[in-house]
Amino acid sequence: MNILFYSDSQDQLFHISPRQRRVAAVLSLIMIALTVIGLFFAHWQLPDFFAFFPVIGAWGIFGDILTAFILFNQFRASPILPLLILGSTFLLNGLLSFLYLMTLMDAMPTIGTWMTDTQSGSWLWCFWHASFPIGILLFTASMRSQIRKALMPREQVRKILTLTTLSVIAIAVLLFMLVTFGHDWLPVIIENGDYSKLITSGIGPFLWVLNAVAFVVSIFPYRKTGILRVWLRVSSLAFLLGITLSLSAGERFTVGWYGARIDSLIASIVVVVAIVSEVNKLFVRLSRQREELKESKQALEAANEQLKELAGIDSLTRIANRRKFDETLKQELNAPQREKEPLSLLMIDIDFFKAYNDNYGHLGGDMVLRSVAPKLESEALAHFGFTARYGGEEFAIILPGHSEQEAEQIAELMLESVRSLNIPHQHSGVSNQITISVGGCTLYPGEKTTPHDLIHRADQALYQAKAQGRSRFVFAQSNRPRRSFP
Ligand code: GH3
Ligand code: MG
Ligand code: MG
Repeated sequence: MNILFYSDSQDQLFHISPRQRRVAAVLSLIMIALTVIGLFFAHWQLPDFFAFFPVIGAWGIFGDILTAFILFNQFRASPILPLLILGSTFLLNGLLSFLYLMTLMDAMPTIGTWMTDTQSGSWLWCFWHASFPIGILLFTASMRSQIRKALMPREQVRKILTLTTLSVIAIAVLLFMLVTFGHDWLPVIIENGDYSKLITSGIGPFLWVLNAVAFVVSIFPYRKTGILRVWLRVSSLAFLLGITLSLSAGERFTVGWYGARIDSLIASIVVVVAIVSEVNKLFVRLSRQREELKESKQALEAANEQLKELAGIDSLTRIANRRKFDETLKQELNAPQREKEPLSLLMIDIDFFKAYNDNYGHLGGDMVLRSVAPKLESEALAHFGFTARYGGEEFAIILPGHSEQEAEQIAELMLESVRSLNIPHQHSGVSNQITISVGGCTLYPGEKTTPHDLIHRADQALYQAKAQGRSRFVFAQSNRPRRSFP
């Protein structure tokens, strides 16, 4: 079970960083300090800066609804009850603060005279300040109980979310009806703009205690603390400080009253700000990981190439590579047949290949190598020979059991078969298509030599073939006359 943001177990992603913890602590201390200062001047009347209302209110409502939206989406991913409770708490908070704002702004007087009673707004404020701590308490209780682990049936998540949202809206509407149509049934807490009854009736103190309990419960440590819970503490604290200021302010547009509004704004937006900043971090991490993934894919491809190289295959032409060639030549030179049979070696080089690359592009050059290699290989195989890419545009062919004469015939066949590929090469100095030069040498039975020496002899012959005009073969002078061998 991976629940983003409240991360109490395996999910390290949303485990709170020390930096976030510090920010939360500093913000809390600032709020406490401002509240203490605010308490001294709580009654000071400030200008009734009315635009303050809609601005601060709209931000708060936006924060609440957005938090609810994110939590409900979290619930979709991990359908556990605590997330649903918390989402509902923020949704109700947003709806009640919206209605409160509407009553304060006298936005609905035209509907009827029932809105003119200022007590409606105050009671809404009470319900609003009761529902949030109750929600926090329910959330905390559900987190500590076994309910935390119970997943809701996934297929019903949508239905549950819709029902919950509708129920929360219904609660908000019912409370609104109660404070408007039914305000006569509610005890009087405000009389001619005087809030003192809010305190003396015990309702204010009760709300304060409720918020204090919610805050204390929220800071009580249990399990690992994820981002969500740390910022919920800040939110609960802001609520508590807000209600403290409100109760001590007594009147609107006082220092305490303005301070309380700012506190409730902080309460509404800290959680969503923390979540959005975490999502941002997650995004950055995701793109970094994508880069890393790309890099490791490239490293894997390089390692694969290396593996092929080690396995003896040339990755471009798919024939044996130099390594395999060295191995094979050594084996052949040490083979018991060496005593009875000759061995020929051909070194083959493509003519004017640099000019081909220069004019047809490197990729074009690669295509030539890919075409020439299998051609040479099949020709060699027909005579039980072994073909390797010696390097660059050079190939080497080992022909065990073949005399110089036979090897010359095979070399001639190779020249012909490469010509028959008909690969145009307008910049060749020898033909108008791709050709090769071949240098060969033969080792006769009983002759001792090293691989290095044999290659050197074939190379010398190749050099001569080049010097004599290319597109031909030249054989190194053998140590024994041709005729002497049957
Ligand atoms: P010559 O007729 O004397 O053999 O001249 P050349 O141009 O064929 O030979 P040179 O040694 O001057 O150039 C060989 C070229 O082969 C240069 C190098 O860039 C190219 N080459 C080596 N390996 C590869 C490869 O894997 N792919 C491609 N496209 N070109 C390669
Ligand atoms: Mg070369
Ligand atoms: Mg060449």
